[in-house]
Amino acid sequence: MADCIFCRIVKGELPAQIVYETESVIAFRDLHAQAPTHVLVIPRRHIATLNDLMPEDASLMGEMVLAAQAVAHQEGIADQGYRTIMNCNLAGGQTVYHIHLHVLGGRQMTWPPG
Ligand code: AMP
Repeated sequence: MADCIFCRIVKGELPAQIVYETESVIAFRDLHAQAPTHVLVIPRRHIATLNDLMPEDASLMGEMVLAAQAVAHQEGIADQGYRTIMNCNLAGGQTVYHIHLHVLGGRQMTWPPG
């Protein structure tokens, strides 16, 4: 998608601090970090929201979760703990319509989330 900022990061048209990548996913630091570690894991392929996932995307979603795990190890937050979040649509707080798994850590998380 030409007007999707995350597709533009995938294509190298917009700068990003990429910390991890595979053939199908990339992970980069969030521009407005909400924790000492705040990384976004995205599929290279454009999928707008969680609602748009198809059964054939199951392994891609698994790869995203495994990428989040790899990032947590790489960032040294795996053992102390971290949070993964996917926001969906307006009420879910989604602002960028290319699915992304937030990986947050390096501080104590609270519950319930806002
Ligand atoms: P969400 O609100 O769940 O859609 O999350 C979108 C996230 O993308 C926010 O945390 C933003 O700070 C982050 N973000 C937006 N633009 C960029 C960018 N160009 N590079 C890195 N992170 C971004």
